[in-house]
Amino acid sequence: MKAATLIAPERISVIDVPDPTCGPREVLVRMRGVGLCGSDLSVYRGHRAVPDLPWILGHEGVGDIVAVGAEVDDQRIGEQVAIEPNYCCLQCEPCRAGFTSACPNRIILGINAPGVLAEFVAVPADFAFPVAPHVELADLVCAEPLTVARAAIRRSGITAGDSCLVVGTGSQGLFLCELLVDAGVKPHVIEPHEGRRILAETLGATAAAESDSGFRFLFETSGVAAALPPALARLAPGGTAMLIGINAEPLGVSSFDIVYRQLRLLGSLIYDHPTDFADTAALLDGGLSPSRVLQAEFPLAEAARAFEAVRTTPGKCWIRLD
Ligand SMILES: [Zn+2]
Ligand SMILES: [Zn+2]
Repeated sequence: MKAATLIAPERISVIDVPDPTCGPREVLVRMRGVGLCGSDLSVYRGHRAVPDLPWILGHEGVGDIVAVGAEVDDQRIGEQVAIEPNYCCLQCEPCRAGFTSACPNRIILGINAPGVLAEFVAVPADFAFPVAPHVELADLVCAEPLTVARAAIRRSGITAGDSCLVVGTGSQGLFLCELLVDAGVKPHVIEPHEGRRILAETLGATAAAESDSGFRFLFETSGVAAALPPALARLAPGGTAMLIGINAEPLGVSSFDIVYRQLRLLGSLIYDHPTDFADTAALLDGGLSPSRVLQAEFPLAEAARAFEAVRTTPGKCWIRLD
């Protein structure tokens, strides 16, 4: 089968690799779409080391089940599925408490295990989530990053009618905006890039004016350390800041800033198995249309061009395999 592989930093080649074999508790998925995001880009650029080269890229994969292992119900053949690309161990203490995003043994597709940018992928059956057949491929392919955004919203405790500021409207910020609007929240956004800001506005967000403040919630998706202190200053006393973007730089916030204004500072990493992905499948079934965030589509043969486009495209790039 064909797969898009990294052969050296910033060099991608679509090559023939052996077909995967389906283990007893696995399903074989014929891939139909793979979304690209910032973590793929850090692998592509060589900032995140991978175990081997050539390395099959990609973690946001969807497709159809075409075969199942001996211990899997063969009724599942034909399902369209979204793959949860973080295989938690389900044995460790965080996993047993349902906090699987904190699992220290996580297998991460495209990062420490081969990715999904291939014609076929074998996946543990419990990590292939069925999505109703009427859901369009372009909506389905957003399932993974949508689940990241949704888990951050769930963990924040925000509810309908709350005021909220979103910093950064890259694809994660855009999915957040769409989900917040769907949940009855009208997000204000800060985004210096005009194209991204306009996209957020088309999803129902409002560009924040200099004077807008007193927000109950803040979602920080840019990962730019310098963006946080001025955003925190716009929170109401007792407000909640949810950090999603990641950066190694210190944040430049004092305990004075946090304690006097009694802010809550939280971090949100991916999602917890299996409830968050199951919730996303239900949302897609219910008619949410995240495909508005997709802005550029490429065939597998043009994977190299697709990765180059991730840098410059407002919204999301994806690779269509069907
Ligand atoms: Zn991603
Ligand atoms: Zn675990």
